[in-house]
Amino acid sequence: MIGVIYDDAYLEHKPPRYHIENPSRVSSIMSALYQRNIPIERPVTNVNEWLVKVHDLTYIHQIDSACEGNYVFIDADTYVSPGTCRAARLAVGAVIKGIDKVLSGEWNAAYAVVRPPGHHVGRSGRALMAPTQGFCIFNNVAVGAVYALSRGIDRVAILDFDVHHGNGTQEIFYNDPRVLYISLHQDPVTIFPGTGFIGEVGEGEGEGFNVNVPLPPLTGDDAYQDALNRVVWPIINEFKPQLILVSLGFDAHELETIANLRLSLNTYAEMFRGLRDLIGMVKGVIFVLEGGYNFEVLSRGSRLLVDIMSNRDFEIDEESTVTDPRVKSRVNSVIKEVVGVHKQYWHIE
Ligand SMILES: [Zn+2]
Repeated sequence: MIGVIYDDAYLEHKPPRYHIENPSRVSSIMSALYQRNIPIERPVTNVNEWLVKVHDLTYIHQIDSACEGNYVFIDADTYVSPGTCRAARLAVGAVIKGIDKVLSGEWNAAYAVVRPPGHHVGRSGRALMAPTQGFCIFNNVAVGAVYALSRGIDRVAILDFDVHHGNGTQEIFYNDPRVLYISLHQDPVTIFPGTGFIGEVGEGEGEGFNVNVPLPPLTGDDAYQDALNRVVWPIINEFKPQLILVSLGFDAHELETIANLRLSLNTYAEMFRGLRDLIGMVKGVIFVLEGGYNFEVLSRGSRLLVDIMSNRDFEIDEESTVTDPRVKSRVNSVIKEVVGVHKQYWHIE
């Protein structure tokens, strides 16, 4: 069973002027989900104990004092409003609540419909020399992974399907073999945050536990699914995580104007089905909203997620996209290169 975690406090993280990352994103998702008759719970409220295990105190204080003022931009992309600090803590609290629900056996999947998003924030804000924090305040998924480890879980996988590389998450767990990070994203040469190359494989004990699959612009369903089948599922099956956290971005969809991949919801359905089939091997899957800015895609994609995870019939009213042969051959070379680099750590070919 899948449950949703949400709080109206997420609407109080407000931009000072029009911004693509705005409260209507989560309201459009929730109006689609309210019709679905699934459990909706509120986040855990006291998260400071866990927040400090991921973020520097100086960074947390800097954000808290920005919230005391009026509406400010802390960098060219990222704003803080008076309601941001509560929203951002409750975004972390939603992931923690989802983990509690799954570990208690009450649910086997959870969907944290949260904002602000998190995967671009590192320990102290901007991660890996990125120009900005890309709309993110606290790294929700990272705090969730650390919380899960403290609850007796030994192996957590973070799957990042957002179209942008999760530079913050990569930075935080780069040396940590207990947290496997796998990201499929648009080629960093062509898009923010400029990291997520194949050679970034982790360091020290964490070497081999960071897997990046940078896909060229215009990658469509067929080519993306090749990457899922040849890289993502085999590595997950070998790592055998006890828990999977998904950085769920809908911004790889072809209707998204912020990026240039060409996925339809058919590929999202494939990801959701693949994850549903892992339940049993894993105690549960926690989906955490990251990007996605087209309200139609957000609401239809979220409905698809809960329908698939609760084994309901579903319909996808979209044609699958076919990758142009020239782009497809570039995707093939990327997959080959990823396999070439990672076959020393995993049984992939
Ligand atoms: Zn994104």
